[in-house]
This record gives sequence, C-alpha cells and structure tokens, in this order.
Amino acid sequence: MSVLVVQGLSKSFGGVRAVGDVSFAVAPGEMLALIGPNGAGKSTLFNMVGGQLVPDAGSVLLGGVPITGLGPRAIARHGVGRTFQITATFGSMTVRENVQMALLSHKGEVWSFWRPVAGRHAAEADALLAGVGLAAQAERATGVLAYGDLKRLELAIALGNEPRLLLMDEPTAGMAPAERVALMQLTRRLATERGVAVLFTEHDMDVVFDVSDRILVLNRGTLIAEGDGASIRANPAVREIYLGT
Ligand code: ADP
Ligand code: MG
Repeated sequence: MSVLVVQGLSKSFGGVRAVGDVSFAVAPGEMLALIGPNGAGKSTLFNMVGGQLVPDAGSVLLGGVPITGLGPRAIARHGVGRTFQITATFGSMTVRENVQMALLSHKGEVWSFWRPVAGRHAAEADALLAGVGLAAQAERATGVLAYGDLKRLELAIALGNEPRLLLMDEPTAGMAPAERVALMQLTRRLATERGVAVLFTEHDMDVVFDVSDRILVLNRGTLIAEGDGASIRANPAVREIYLGT
C-alpha cells in the first residue's frame, strides 16, 4: 500500500491557481523528487500535505487514513515529518541537547527550560548524530555549526520523529554542489535503512537524477510528467518547459 496518496489536490490564492487537481502516490521507502520552476506550486503542495495549508479541494491519505485539512501537529502524529528551509533549532543548546529536546517532544515527555534535557534519551540522540556524521560535534553549541552541519542536524531531528514520510522542501538551498549531493545521498541511505519515504524538492538536476527513485514535474500548478530519471530527461514537455532545451 502507498504511504501517501494525494488525489485532486487544489489551492488558489486570490485569483491565482497555485496547485490544480494534482494526484500522485508515494510508495513506502521511496525517494520521490518534486521538481518544477519557481512558482510552480511545489511549496503549496508540500504545505497541504504537511497541514500548513488547508486544500480548497482534494484529499490526502496517509497509509490509507484521510488526513486532509488536519493541522500540522495532528499530521505529524500520523507520521509525516518535515525539514524546513529555515532551520529551527536552539542556538545556545548543544547539538546533542537539540536532538534530545526533539526526542522528548516527539515522545510527549515533559521538559522545562530550567533543566531541559539532562541525560534523557542521550544514547538515542548520539545514535542519530552518528548516523548523520555529527558525533564529533555533539557537545558544541548549535549556533556555531557550519551551515551544512545544521542541515545534517535537521535531518537527525526529523528522523528522530520516526516519520513514515519525510517532506523536504529545498533541503539543499544555500549549499555548495558537492555538499548538496552528499546531504541527499545521506538522506537516501538513512531513509532506506529506516524504511522512510522521502518527498523532496530540489533545483539541482544532478542531485535529482542521482538520488531519486522517481520524479514528478509540476508546472503552473499542474503535474506534467512523472517517471524515472531517464524518462524525465527524455520527456519533450519537460525539456521545453523546465530544462529550457
Ligand atoms: P514553488 O514552491 O514551486 O516555487 P509556490 O507553491 O511557493 O511555488 O507558489 C505557487 C504560486 O502560488 C505562486 O504563484 C505564488 O506566488 C503563489 N503563492 C504561494 N503562496 C502564496 C500565498 N501565501 N499567498 C498568495 N500567493 C501565494
Ligand atoms: Mg517553494
């Protein structure tokens, strides 16, 4: 069964149809890229799946259960994780403490700002940090991390929430090309190990072709193509509209 099924999803802002009648499914553990020019409707689509926006029409099913129109917290509890374009961590806390905080929140456990995490879930936090290559940075203040390391921390935190589906909207924005490939290959490896499906947007086509199982192409709010890297590369509509050749 598909982990995510989107059917006829639509959203307009004023007179602008940002997303119109979009349908697709995501298989368990699949790495699915959503590509398209700026303004194509990618973020709007992500926000409807993640619960940040309520669709005008259509439905979203997670593991067969309708989650359409639920809020972000409820959707997260159903197993949808997100990383954001702007990294949301506490800069003065250590890298490990940020992961511990996320684990406490995910498990519904109580914490306070006075003595937030102590040693709670430290081993699980360290395992997550080791997974993203941040073991050596665990004791550092999060605020001093390099940008690429912050992205890895975000990934560790997102995986700590044990999602079935992880939404990543432009996860590699602002990174150098080599770093982009590395982050998405890491994401792919960890997601495969954990059986997490990943729906992500990415402008760098080298990264898209390198790590995706399948690619969806959105243009002016409408899906115009869907397939593996070879079929997308060869698709005349995609070449004309998106790749500009
Ligand atoms: P993408 O992520 O593919 O660049 P977006 O989903 O951000 O595209 O935007 C799709 C269209 O919807 C654009 O025309 C954009 O200007 C418009 N749009 C997105 N969000 C809003 C909003 N909150 N209010 C008004 N228009 C919006
Ligand atoms: Mg966007």
